[in-house]
Formats: sequence, C-alpha cells, structure tokens
Amino acid sequence: MMDQNTNYPFCAIVGQEDMKRALILNVINPRIGGVLIRGEKGTAKSTAVRSLADILPKRRQVDGCRFSCDPDDASFWCGECRARDGAGVNESRMRVVNLPVSATEDRVVGTLDIEHALKKGEKRFEPGILAQANRNILYVDEVNLLDDHVVDVLLDAAAMGVNLVEREGVSYSHPSNFVLVGSMNPEEGDLRPQLIDRFGLVVDVRGENDVDKRAQIVRYRLDFERDPEVFAEKFEDENIRLGERISNAKTVLGRVTYSDACLDAVAGLVVELGAQGHRADITLVKTAMTNAAFMGRGGVTKDDLFVAAKLALPHRMRRKPFEDGVIDMEDVYEIISGYDGL
Ligand SMILES: [Zn+2]
Repeated sequence: MMDQNTNYPFCAIVGQEDMKRALILNVINPRIGGVLIRGEKGTAKSTAVRSLADILPKRRQVDGCRFSCDPDDASFWCGECRARDGAGVNESRMRVVNLPVSATEDRVVGTLDIEHALKKGEKRFEPGILAQANRNILYVDEVNLLDDHVVDVLLDAAAMGVNLVEREGVSYSHPSNFVLVGSMNPEEGDLRPQLIDRFGLVVDVRGENDVDKRAQIVRYRLDFERDPEVFAEKFEDENIRLGERISNAKTVLGRVTYSDACLDAVAGLVVELGAQGHRADITLVKTAMTNAAFMGRGGVTKDDLFVAAKLALPHRMRRKPFEDGVIDMEDVYEIISGYDGL
C-alpha cells in the first residue's frame, strides 16, 4: 500500500550512480561523515534523499524518547532512556529531517534553560533539529548559503554522533547520530574549502548526456506524473530488495576486515595523489569497508578501495586557484593495483 504522497521510487532514478552509492554508504555507516552533493537544479538531489529513506525497513526505537534512541544499543542512549531503563519499544522508518537555510544555532542544537538549572539544579532542555536528526537523515539544501558557524556545529555533531550544548558552565548532551546530506548549486556560491573537506564524501552530479538515458528519465517522469502509485508499484520489489541489502550491510559492517596491504594502499593513494589533511585516509578506509559490506564481502578488496577513492578523494586534492579538484581514476587504479595482498 502506497500512501497519498508517493515519492519517486529510489530504484527508478536513472544514472547518478555515484550519488546513489554515496547516499547508500552513508546510510549504512553514518560515521563516514556525510555527503555533499553538488549540482545544478533538476538533478534529482532531494528526490534521491527522500526516496532512499522510503525504502529502508522499519527499525526499533524507544517509546516516547525525544531522540528516538535505539532500544538495542544502550551505549548510545540519552540520559532520559538511561534513567528509565526498560522502556517500551515501537517501530518507525528512518526520516528525512530538513534543515532550513535560515536556521539559527539555537534552533539547530536546542536550548538549555540556564535559569531553571541554576534555581532548581536540574537541566531543562528544549530539543533542536539535531535531536530530531538522531538516527535519521539530516538534509540541508543549499548548504552553501547556511551560516558558516552553523555548518561547523553540524559537522561537529556529525563527526561525534553527539550534540553537546554548553552554556555558562551548564552542559547537556544527547545522541545525534545522523546521516548528513548537504546539497548545493555551485553557481550560487561555494562552500569554504575547510568545510568541504569535512564532508566525508562529495559527488558532483551533472545532467545526463547519454541519449538513451535522457529519454528514459523523461519516460519515467511522465509515467510517474500520470499515476505515481502505479509507477511506484513497478519498482516495489526492487526497492524492497535494496532496502534489505542495506540493512544486512549495517549488521555485517562491524565484522568487515581490512589487511595491512589495504592500509598501505590507502596511504599510498593519499601521498601519491597529494590529498590534503589526514581525514582522507580514515574516510577512505571507512568508505571501503562500508562498500565491502554493501557488496556482501567480508573483507576490503581493490574494488572497494577504488569506489572509496572516487567518492572521498577528489574534493581533498590540492588545487590551484580557480581550479577544481581533479583526479584521474586511471592513476587511482594503477596505484591500488601496485599493492599485493589486497
Ligand atoms: Zn532516549
């Protein structure tokens, strides 16, 4: 049964393979650090995000918890869940929480009632968007137009999985483990390079140039507009299979192994290609492990590293002024191939 506001089915998105893979990998493993999608309007960015959330199987959450804590993972519980150990459980789907460009820092992190804390000695916290975002997808359209400081706060929370609010010696923290998806149209201004580097993955989406694929996109769009439900039903089985594959990958991710040769290859890639900072190495390994889990492999292979390099490296390449980060995937392939034992 489809609801009235049927979203465009994820599996009916033609092309944009890098964007789809980057989103899937972040949903499996939010610790990758999010994805920034750059591209003109009309390149299915927000459609892809919304429709991906639709296909994920329902998951368990603590009844009445303001942060949708996971009942099966007490180590990430909020203070309230820890205090009333053994609460009820309900099920819901992962949601897409939108962060408006106009959002202030208070609206994002929430507010602590300092007066109440000083007078009564207890903390009263009004949750913000980062509370809603826990275990969900946080989608920031036009992230390049957001206040730099708010972007910083978002990226901190995304990296830690925790929102820590500190005001006048009083602090409050709650789990905020979300998949950060930013999108932007580069024609409307850029994001500072320091901020771009903090997104785990970056993909550039472009209009499709393949004639057959373009025609397919239009055909699907028209079919969808004529009758969204009928159209969505055609992709239901495929969507369900993909959703199950993603949730299986989540469960096996912790058991995926990597060899010493894999770490050597990662270091080799970063040094030889001249990527900036140390975030590149760790993101490459995490992304490769997650890709292995998605592909049903127990250990990282060259293919996983190749996918990881494509998504995690280009935006970290040293660049000259007025030049985009460029990366030759043939160089990447050659470097990876040089390491035995992968
Ligand atoms: Zn909780």
